[in-house]
Amino acid sequence: MLKDLMLYFHIPFCISKCAYCAFYSSPAWDSKLLERYTDALTAQVAAFDNSEEYKIVSIYFGGGTPTILGAERLCRVLAAVKERFCIDSQAEITLEANPKTVDETGLRALKEEGFNRLSLGAQSFNDSTLRLLNRAHTAADFEECFASARRAGFDNISADLIFALPNENIKMLENSVNKLISLAPEHISVYGLSIEEGTPLYLRKKEYAFPTEEGEEAQYEMLCKLLGEAGYSHYEISNFATVGKEARHNTGYWKRIPYFGFGAGAHSFFNERRFATPASIADYIAKASGGLLAPTDYHSSKPVSAAEAEEERIMLGLRMKEGVKIDESRVPPIIIKQGLGVYQNGVLALTERGFRVSNTLINMILS
Ligand code: SF4
Repeated sequence: MLKDLMLYFHIPFCISKCAYCAFYSSPAWDSKLLERYTDALTAQVAAFDNSEEYKIVSIYFGGGTPTILGAERLCRVLAAVKERFCIDSQAEITLEANPKTVDETGLRALKEEGFNRLSLGAQSFNDSTLRLLNRAHTAADFEECFASARRAGFDNISADLIFALPNENIKMLENSVNKLISLAPEHISVYGLSIEEGTPLYLRKKEYAFPTEEGEEAQYEMLCKLLGEAGYSHYEISNFATVGKEARHNTGYWKRIPYFGFGAGAHSFFNERRFATPASIADYIAKASGGLLAPTDYHSSKPVSAAEAEEERIMLGLRMKEGVKIDESRVPPIIIKQGLGVYQNGVLALTERGFRVSNTLINMILS
């Protein structure tokens, strides 16, 4: 029987650097580098040994901004995957895209090659906020891109929003949430802004007004309420979906389905081992082009121990509305008493109130 496997492709290029971004992504690229990077990705795919043992249940192209590669190169990589692997007919094939980096013609080509889900970064519908964050798009660009994606045939679109943004009050966030709901994406991810040391936003943070902890809580509560009323199920701490449109790839991460990463700095969880490719683009290209990043090249990495695996299972499982199987003796009674979680048939599931303090609760359970 074939084993389920998910594939992740990391494309570490962006148009410019967002003010809050602490990810590894490079705004320095040209078409020659993109060509070499694409060749390295296809070489890494071709080097995957024993690929006939697996059934690919999900593929995710993330970044960075994957659409910087352009539709033709992205299709080339997906074609290489199709040649090497058996892909499940129901596989979710997601592409992260930023408005302004892809047009309708490109989207049609991507759809035709097999990409069947788009993840678009909206972040906010207030142009003053988008400028402050140094995002490369405006609210109108997002709407135009969304409409192009629909016309190109994408019927599964996810959009990201950020809350607790600088100089944004709850009314402004409400405007963004309502605007997004009116576009009716199938899936919405929401993240509280985190200000990482060393980012431009961190260096200028004194210049802006940020919500207090209570203000942030009120923003999260408001957006959960609006999305719930609009028919989105809050199926994971940061994710909301219409019926049947929960992200299969991310759900696979939370359920510890094995995945293999391609591209610079891509992580894998494979054969109960966690490992990553070289983070430097130059090192990655050199190694992948030499056929050196096959699964067997990681045999010396340390396997995840049984205790670590159990900790991961609980930590990741509690992110989901469906919860996680756990012995009652491990559940601190205060979680149930205060309505932060529900324990039923051996499964602990956090409530929406519990989601808001999930880090504290998970630490309590694991300590
Ligand atoms: S698009 Fe994403 S990865 Fe690129 S700079 Fe902005 S936040 Fe970072």
